[in-house]
Amino acid sequence: MSKSKLSRSIAEINILLAEKFGIPERSKNLPDPLDLLIATILSQNTNDNNSYKAFENLKLNYPDWEMLKSVSEEELEAVIKTAGLAKQKSAAIKNVINTLSETNGKLSLDFLRERSDEKIIEYLTNFNGIGVKTASCVLMFALERNVCPVDTHVHRTLNRIGLVKTSSPDKTFLKINKDFPDGIAHQFHTNLIKLGRKFCKGQKPYCGICPVKELCKFKEKSFLESSAAEKESILLLDKIGDLIPEGNN
Ligand code: SF4
Repeated sequence: MSKSKLSRSIAEINILLAEKFGIPERSKNLPDPLDLLIATILSQNTNDNNSYKAFENLKLNYPDWEMLKSVSEEELEAVIKTAGLAKQKSAAIKNVINTLSETNGKLSLDFLRERSDEKIIEYLTNFNGIGVKTASCVLMFALERNVCPVDTHVHRTLNRIGLVKTSSPDKTFLKINKDFPDGIAHQFHTNLIKLGRKFCKGQKPYCGICPVKELCKFKEKSFLESSAAEKESILLLDKIGDLIPEGNN
């Protein structure tokens, strides 16, 4: 079946992004799905450094998720506080741990490997505190599905470029993933986040130096001088697979 116009446009943008940013490496060890889910919950509404530190601290204190069964939400809050919104995140993590323990008897999401993308999203979004973005991160980073998660950067840039005209990240997600080009979800997602953070910033896009400016339909392009893309450390979720907290090695 031939690909849709949107799918072909995504592939075209992907080539420009890869020319600029390269093809992002995946982790040497694919993250475990439950590790990735917990790391993604911690990453909600905070920056990479803080969520990464919180995940590291969590693993250091509880190297086996079984240990979380007997930990109170308050204790957990203290351990993950660098991630912010610790109360909500602690409740969401405890709920996942308790539910898996009660329903499966095993703290693992490996059973999801057999399910379709749609079924996995349906299952994960039934948990409080887990939305489509978090569920789709598990799909792409841990289960290697060709599904592109949509966060605020991906949503903003795709709307500015003119590939979609949507009012929320979840609507953008549905639109682009209906017919996503084969095999490029990870690189497209990762490079689009780089584009959103370094060039297509919320308040002040640096259109003059943007790698997709020729294709972009944004009417309010800004050609401000910039030191381009301030250096920003980007810690991607798929690094979770390679994480060995200090003290555990
Ligand atoms: S040209 Fe400007 S608005 Fe368009 S994607 Fe690039 S930075 Fe964003």
